[in-house]
Amino acid sequence: MKAVIVGTEGFEIVNLEAPQPGPGEVLVKMLACGLCGTDVEKLEGRYKGSKPIIGHEAAGVVERVGEGVEGLKEGEPIVPHHHVNCGACYYCLRDSPTMCPSYREYNFTPGGFSEYFIVPKWIVERGGIHKPPPGLTPIESCLTEPTACVLRAIKRITAKDPESYAVVGLGAVGLTFIQVLRWTGATRIIGIDINPARLAAAERYGADVLNPTEGDVVEIVMGMTGWRGVDVAVVAAGPPQALSTAIKLTRRGGQVLLFA
Ligand SMILES: [Zn+2]
Ligand SMILES: [Zn+2]
Repeated sequence: MKAVIVGTEGFEIVNLEAPQPGPGEVLVKMLACGLCGTDVEKLEGRYKGSKPIIGHEAAGVVERVGEGVEGLKEGEPIVPHHHVNCGACYYCLRDSPTMCPSYREYNFTPGGFSEYFIVPKWIVERGGIHKPPPGLTPIESCLTEPTACVLRAIKRITAKDPESYAVVGLGAVGLTFIQVLRWTGATRIIGIDINPARLAAAERYGADVLNPTEGDVVEIVMGMTGWRGVDVAVVAAGPPQALSTAIKLTRRGGQVLLFA
């Protein structure tokens, strides 16, 4: 089988023998896998937060289950988690599951950009394999993980009755924020980016859009919000000016969500 893995300089396409699932493991036939910003950072040698395995936004079907695995049929569409927390340590008991020391210990083998990959027993036995609702394409299914990250961030908003939001940075994450915020009932969302294609997409998803190369976005947002600023700003872009812009266009007592 073919697999894309982290090489010495960027990615490498290699031919590997298809793995066999051991007891408690599941072998997945990959049908789609998203490319995360952290994958790119790993390929460039900049991300050291977890093992050098790329491809965690994967969707596929069960190819084979290992001994003792129940509730999964061969050929069934699935979306597996690449990390699962222990549920019992100091961090897990304080609602910080992603800080759990076990969380990053486990991953797919050899990774999500492989024709077939193994989901480890640790993840399978903790319910880390989801079955997508019928009708979702594999490409739609593989957006589960980034969408879940966005949903988790939105659940952390504590500002009372927010009326207005700004999303600074309209890449895949920023555009997902706009769609999920709309789904939660938000009506005024201001999307900010310098890329015309991204601005057009944000507009299609129901945001008002601003391009910082065409005017002072802080001034314009103030004008749009009764000179208060937005209730909640989301930083969905890496450059430091995204953070300073987000802080400036948020109202006093508002909330800035640091996602990127
Ligand atoms: Zn990701
Ligand atoms: Zn834990």
